[in-house]
Amino acid sequence: MVSREILVVVEHRAGKLLPVSLELAAFGRQLAQIAGGSVMGVVLASPARSVAEEFAQSSGLPVLALENENFSAYNAEAYLRALARLVSERQPAFILIAHTAAGWDFAPRLAVAVSGSCSTGVAGFEAGVPIRFHRAICGGKISTEVAPILDTVAVVTMMPGAVKPTEPEAAGAVEVKSVEAGAGGTRALGLKQAPPRSLDLSRAEVIVAAGRGMGGPEHLGLIRELASLFDRGAVGASRPVVDAGWLPLEHQVGMTGQTVAPKLYLACGISGAIQHTMGMSRADLIVAVNTDPAAAIFSAAHLGIVQDLRRFLPVLIAKLRDKKEKKL
Ligand SMILES: Cc1cc2nc3c(=O)[nH]c(=O)nc-3n(C[C@H](O)[C@H](O)[C@H](O)COP(=O)(O)OP(=O)(O)OC[C@H]3O[C@@H](n4cnc5c(N)ncnc54)[C@H](O)[C@@H]3O)c2cc1C
Repeated sequence: MVSREILVVVEHRAGKLLPVSLELAAFGRQLAQIAGGSVMGVVLASPARSVAEEFAQSSGLPVLALENENFSAYNAEAYLRALARLVSERQPAFILIAHTAAGWDFAPRLAVAVSGSCSTGVAGFEAGVPIRFHRAICGGKISTEVAPILDTVAVVTMMPGAVKPTEPEAAGAVEVKSVEAGAGGTRALGLKQAPPRSLDLSRAEVIVAAGRGMGGPEHLGLIRELASLFDRGAVGASRPVVDAGWLPLEHQVGMTGQTVAPKLYLACGISGAIQHTMGMSRADLIVAVNTDPAAAIFSAAHLGIVQDLRRFLPVLIAKLRDKKEKKL
């Protein structure tokens, strides 16, 4: 029989809390409001206290910090052993994990190890018995609902960006415990920093982003021209645009690209897959141009324009240019 507890596995790197951990904390609180029970953060680190205290302060949740030298960098086998033991001791109703490279590595293994259910890439949920989790499939074109099996531990991975972090009223309490956690056959050799990007989209105030709907690299001149009309404008891209070699990787926005929060994000011919929107949903104003009125991007956008890009962008560029010239 599971308890009503909700455990949140805190993600961190090189001793620093990752922002997704605070989103997970907010997700845990939302879940507790409808499912009842308490929420607790779980930190696996070496040393663990400073990350645990940072999380307890920023989230307001109580934290159990598990310490073992094999947690000095992410190690799937050590994580699995420690978490499986914790789950069998506490029998939580839910164990929430970020849907990141590490999360999607150990979450399914954990679900198997504890004979629980596993719902991955969750972006929201609906109250009910059992709770139904929302997840997008086929690049965001299909929304599905999945329900965890009742009375088993529900392992859930949450899409980064799905929930906004909340401000805590007070810091949570921290308990640090040394645990056994063999690393099995794997050993973390260290972290290697990716080469610095020549384009830092996070500094742009306006991002004009090109999607597959642009139709080909020969039409990207429209995107570049529009971006150049703003003082701090930059060109962004969806993954297919980068995969097809129309633009270099440094322009990619989303799960495997950059996370941005400009004043204006103009999505041109982008369908709105969650892997893209999670990288730009914090923009102050999102404007989408798409020929398909049912495109998912219109749910993320504040303003939607159903129109062919190749007709709309030249008109917009001419209007903005005209306005700029009149100002000079
Ligand atoms: C693990 C993983 C990680 C991923 N990471 C990322 C990521 O970081 N970033 C990312 O972007 N994607 C990522 N993806 C891919 C993602 O799932 C989508 O496939 C991708 O975002 C779709 O790109 P798109 O919207 O440009 O193309 P499509 O989905 O093909 O959409 C093209 C859109 O253009 C519209 N259109 C067509 N012609 C016109 C026209 N003439 N005028 C106006 N509109 C038009 C269409 O109606 C359509 O909505 C990832 C996927 C996985 C599985």
